[in-house]
Amino acid sequence: MTATPMRGSFDEALGIWIWAAPPQERAPRLALFLDRDGVIIEDPGYLCRATDLRLIEGAAGVIAEANRRGIPVVEVTNQAGIGRGYYGWDDFVAVEEALTQLLARESASVDAVFACPYHREGIAPWVHPEHPARKPRPGMLLAAERLLGLDLGRSWIVGDRLGDLQAGYHAGLRGGLHVLTGAGVRSRAAVNEWKPENFEVRLGDSIRDAVGLIR
Ligand SMILES: [Mg+2]
Repeated sequence: MTATPMRGSFDEALGIWIWAAPPQERAPRLALFLDRDGVIIEDPGYLCRATDLRLIEGAAGVIAEANRRGIPVVEVTNQAGIGRGYYGWDDFVAVEEALTQLLARESASVDAVFACPYHREGIAPWVHPEHPARKPRPGMLLAAERLLGLDLGRSWIVGDRLGDLQAGYHAGLRGGLHVLTGAGVRSRAAVNEWKPENFEVRLGDSIRDAVGLIR
């Protein structure tokens, strides 16, 4: 499998960095939204070097399974490290390209990447008290709906933080899977206390458990 070259760009109006493969069909489809750090890859904190990239076990398998089933896989990642000035878009893109290569080795690929750099403690131009694209707000998921033609009401999100699931809730997804990788162990209690209406919360160990969402 050849990895698609990544030519993302920052959408000024949305405040989101976006890369997307050409959509394969136009009928609204259920999507699998994935947080990146702590879900697809290990999260050492503000990851910005491709050499630090480590896939979480099972991630490539789940993504490949979604690919086989024609289910779009959409990465939605808060990148406060850019907002805080710790690293830049070139570093981010290098990590994404390395991730694309790692996944391609296991015949897996993501269909789109959405990244939000804004943070309330960010530096100009990325400082924003509560940017609509930063999870737990739903901006990235809503942009994906429009761009990729998704059926959000049938879609799922996988995350290691409560904010990932809350972004899914605010976007009107069917539900979310909380995993124990990344920040998952310390956020599990908050997830358990959260009782959203019309949003199914599932608990798992890792992204591997997302297979149950797409079968
Ligand atoms: Mg995370």
